[in-house]
Amino acid sequence: MSTMKALIAGAVDDLAGDLEQLSHRIHANPEVAYQEIKAAGWLSEFLAAQGFAVERAVAGVETAFRATLDNGDGPTIAILCEYDALPAIGHACGHNVIAAAGAGAGAALARVRARLPRGRIHVVGTPAEEGGGGKIRLIKGGVFQSVDAAMMVHGWDRWIGHQDLLGIVRVGFEFTGKAAHAAADPWEGINALDAVIQTFNNVSMLRQQVRPDARIHGIVTNGGAAANIIPESAAALFYVRAPRLDDMWAIHRRVVACAEGAARATGCSLRIVENENTYEPMKRNETLLELFRANWRDLGVEESPEIRDRLGSSDVGNVSQVVPAIQPLVKIAPDGTAIHSRAFEAAAAGPLARAGLLTAAKSMAMTTFDLLDDPSLVAKARQEFAAI
Ligand SMILES: [Zn+2]
Ligand SMILES: [Zn+2]
Repeated sequence: MSTMKALIAGAVDDLAGDLEQLSHRIHANPEVAYQEIKAAGWLSEFLAAQGFAVERAVAGVETAFRATLDNGDGPTIAILCEYDALPAIGHACGHNVIAAAGAGAGAALARVRARLPRGRIHVVGTPAEEGGGGKIRLIKGGVFQSVDAAMMVHGWDRWIGHQDLLGIVRVGFEFTGKAAHAAADPWEGINALDAVIQTFNNVSMLRQQVRPDARIHGIVTNGGAAANIIPESAAALFYVRAPRLDDMWAIHRRVVACAEGAARATGCSLRIVENENTYEPMKRNETLLELFRANWRDLGVEESPEIRDRLGSSDVGNVSQVVPAIQPLVKIAPDGTAIHSRAFEAAAAGPLARAGLLTAAKSMAMTTFDLLDDPSLVAKARQEFAAI
């Protein structure tokens, strides 16, 4: 390990107690999407105390922030923090660790500022990953416009450098028919629930003709008012997921066609409710990954193989479609602990979480240093990004 990297790792170790405390505080005060007022406040205060210039409520998002360490002209590297909790089960996705690791990476770099190569470091607070699409709003608000590369980590039950993320597009279908007495005059009715059921049948047939890594799943959000009334309105909500943007939109079009066909078959009218919170697939960047993995090896991390069949979605995918980005998975829970479970929530404040947090902060700070130290690596990452 180079002297500078040893200094950076040492700075994280010096901050270990503070970082764990920050992680535990966020963990003990779970705040759901766009309500992360305490977490955003604590992280902003911590980074300001480390010498960062902190802008609160960037891009008009109240619980977002951007903390900047400006060390002159050079590459701009963004380290991302998430800190939203899940409804009912708290920090069962371990975002408290993501937050503390990102803040820790920034703080460690601030401590060696005098010896850092030129460039700009942003620690960006990105709220509402769990369904709210905070990063989508920050992208639209221009937060990533001047960024050359971005990185964050996510807690997991093992160490994995890259994990594919499925893009996800959400679409609602509202069918309108005509109410009638279901026994006395059913022939007078137009059954909106039938249109919903037919949509599900159509989608079930479609499912066989899509690639195995695509996912289509839905629920009935309105199934009618009473069993003795032919339902005049009924609705469903579908999620379509795929690992490539073009596939995702192609399947989305076919799912919409399933609903249109059902409307035609039943005589209902259809309103399609598009959702702007489209999470895009994760675009891989080998250049950044290689740097990150080399730092993991220096830190003694033993990586597990990528997981091919258990795929989720995240708005960091959208970030990876606008700038080179990585989201390595960090072990913070015992093997076999699934995220979004009570066990993962408990682990996110346990001893493995402390170890994971510190290693994540070190490896992100070291990788940021690599990029500032050799801007040709940033150019390489951007070339790779542009070529895919
Ligand atoms: Zn989650
Ligand atoms: Zn998560």
